Amino acid sequence: AGMSSDYLEIRNLTVSFDGFKANTDVNMTLLQGDLRFLIGPNGAGKTTLIDAITGLVPATGSVTKSGVELLGKKVHQIARLGVGRTFQTASVFEQLTVLQNLDIAAGAGRSALTLLRRRKAVLPKIQEALEITGLGDLTDKPAGVLAHGQKQWLEIGMLLVQDASVLLLDEPVAGMSSDEREETGNLLRRIGGERTVVVVEHDMDFMRAFATSVTVLAGGKVLSEGTVEEVQADPKVQEVYLGT
Ligand code: ADP
Repeated sequence: AGMSSDYLEIRNLTVSFDGFKANTDVNMTLLQGDLRFLIGPNGAGKTTLIDAITGLVPATGSVTKSGVELLGKKVHQIARLGVGRTFQTASVFEQLTVLQNLDIAAGAGRSALTLLRRRKAVLPKIQEALEITGLGDLTDKPAGVLAHGQKQWLEIGMLLVQDASVLLLDEPVAGMSSDEREETGNLLRRIGGERTVVVVEHDMDFMRAFATSVTVLAGGKVLSEGTVEEVQADPKVQEVYLGT
């Protein structure tokens, strides 16, 4: 511990709903550059884990980002500390353009700045988000007319302009075509580098193609963790996936 380069440190995270434990003593260490896939059967506690990290449900234990405790903080405080998440259904402002969506996301919590100062601070971020998401040619399109995949990418772009350095994505490729999945994987690689990405996913082909590491949850607990190869070779994992 101490001065480590650990980016997100989850210790003994436990979430109870009326006595039912959706997560029990979950330990995970996420580093910068990780593209971590979080897999496991339905009801394993994957979404609950993301909800707990982002302050949507109360939890015990500890979640620190670069040493700062997140548990007990409010959703917007955690977001401002650079932990962003998407939901299974993309939540973009359908009537507003792609650019307006990014602009609003970038301005969240920064209303005290003058318009001019804000522009200077925000424009390069929007530019970067457009490059990473590949939405540069669609800036003036209302978000509502975007394809399903493009909406997901816009939502990820909105996290980027908010300076999220930890991105928690809940089934980002659900409902996507195989081309869109491929594009999304490449997008996640572009995001990587100095950031940390956690992807809750059911698509095993997608995981094999893009994961740098995998955590398997089952019954609210960490069942297995390692590289794709290590996790796939783990008899405990095979049992869970063949046994259901
Ligand atoms: P996963 O994302 O792996 O499918 P979830 O995190 O959604 O699993 O759910 C884990 C377990 O917690 C499930 O049994 C689910 O029914 C339960 N659960 C999730 N949210 C709540 C809630 N708000 N109240 C009660 N039980 C919940």
